[in-house]
Amino acid sequence: MTAWRDIGCGELRPEHVGSQVTVAGWTARRRDHGGLVFVDLRDSSGLCQLVINPEQAPEAHAAAHDVRNEFVLQATGAVVRRAPEAVNPNLPTGDVEIQVEKLRTVSRSTPLPFQLDEENVDETLRLRYRWLDLRRPKLQRNIRLRGRMVGTIRRVMEEAGFVDIQTPILWKPTPEGARDFLVPSRLQPGRFYALPQSPQIAKQLLVIANFERYYQIAICFRDEDLRADRVQEITQLDVETAFPDVEFIYALMERMVQAVWSECIGVDVEIPFPRLTFAEADARFGSDKPDTRFGLELQDATDATRGSEFGVFANAETVRFITVPREFSRAQLQGLEELAKEWGAKGLAYLVAGEDGEVRSPIAKFLSDRELERVRPPAGSTVLFAADTWELTSRVLGALRLKLGEELGLIDESRFDFLWVEDFPMFEWDEQEQRWNARHHPFTRPAPEWEERFDQDPGQAIAVAYDLIANGNEIGGGSLRIHEPELQARVFDLLQITPEQQRLKFGFLLDALAMGAPPHGGIAFGLDRMVMVLAGEPNLRDTIAFPKNQAGVDPMTGAPSEAPQEQLDELGISLNVPRD
Ligand code: ASP
Repeated sequence: MTAWRDIGCGELRPEHVGSQVTVAGWTARRRDHGGLVFVDLRDSSGLCQLVINPEQAPEAHAAAHDVRNEFVLQATGAVVRRAPEAVNPNLPTGDVEIQVEKLRTVSRSTPLPFQLDEENVDETLRLRYRWLDLRRPKLQRNIRLRGRMVGTIRRVMEEAGFVDIQTPILWKPTPEGARDFLVPSRLQPGRFYALPQSPQIAKQLLVIANFERYYQIAICFRDEDLRADRVQEITQLDVETAFPDVEFIYALMERMVQAVWSECIGVDVEIPFPRLTFAEADARFGSDKPDTRFGLELQDATDATRGSEFGVFANAETVRFITVPREFSRAQLQGLEELAKEWGAKGLAYLVAGEDGEVRSPIAKFLSDRELERVRPPAGSTVLFAADTWELTSRVLGALRLKLGEELGLIDESRFDFLWVEDFPMFEWDEQEQRWNARHHPFTRPAPEWEERFDQDPGQAIAVAYDLIANGNEIGGGSLRIHEPELQARVFDLLQITPEQQRLKFGFLLDALAMGAPPHGGIAFGLDRMVMVLAGEPNLRDTIAFPKNQAGVDPMTGAPSEAPQEQLDELGISLNVPRD
């Protein structure tokens, strides 16, 4: 290996018994048994046990006395078999130990802010001392898994003839629906670059420039309010290709996912993946990223409840329900109602059927036989209703379904369910701004039957856009693009981007589209989220070596930090927020 060591700590096996070795690593634990001192020494290959005997190695023993957790040591000695009662079957090196002759403290550690085997350490503390946190098994696993995943992805893409091309970090705003991060320009005072929310426009230009197959592992910056599964700096596998059809993109990405799952965690994933239209996903699961590992599907009782004596049902635009295989108590129902209200429901009507099949519910007496026939829960189960607009019933029942699936243990955690959701609506109505927004991004093309008339009925128009869902997480999303400048201008018009703004913001794209743009399309995968699913890791930040916290702050470096006045002056910036 190197002058520091000739074998990895985790590599020692009975076949090494009798040989003399030098190892180097971190002290995971030191136990002083009065006479003998034991040290568990760890490096990236694993852990082995050092034994320091005061009689055989008095100097080493004296040195071992001062050793504390996370000191870096170098030890030389003979590999010996452990006494039968000391064998540790849980450790790959558990049959042997090193009888230390020489011990050197290479590097010391100040007292640790937390022990590496401590659970539930506060996340801010973990982020502040990330180098320690990263030494722990979970993060070692996640970050290594991530590295292997990226390696596999690159291989699959290169084998398919895709060219890795870097695109600028300092650029123009790119519309992906988040806020931009701005970077002031010193050479052009008063002007700003925007960090890319994605390389969307750049990759379209590359394909127009005859790089027919482009890919990149790209960092994208989105200034969003953070939640548990969001970060501001996301890494994407970004893909674009000329003359594609949807089948080509699906098949390529399915092969990529299959290779990642098999090479990184040894799981065989069946392809092709099932497909659902957005409308079906919404109707059955109340979600555009359904977790299909369990049932509890939504059902529609709107026509059966028209003219109901129960006014809430009669007057609601939509009445939908889920049937949960549990007989909920009143207190549990109350808890669920609270949640439903948080998600926007006015209340939560229910029917509970006891083991005897008897239905208990304050609303049962209002329901006709025809209604009951449609919604009656089987013995030992509960029906939960949402009665409101279609969107709201989707939101409430979709969220209840997920919550109950998790709480009742209905989700088979050993499964990986992949699924394409396609035929997304092209636009969504922005109530606040009173205008249409692109649901994916404004370069997404309408489905062929909508090309002529998407602007006549924007709420109904369907886009050629698709998402890849894994266990209820959106891990990828893309679309076929508009390659005709006239069509692009019509979409901009509908989005109320005036011709002047079109020129200002996207003039270069419109020019490029007007100079021989091939049909093109692509997709991007959120790699942070993909590792999350791959590793079964609930916290997105724990798939990233140096993440920021939920306030967008890096507790380790203190970023973002204040800038010195001279630097601000140079940039022509004056602040109107108070300095701390
Ligand atoms: N640029 C899109 C995104 O970041 C992906 C794509 O359409 O290829 O979501």
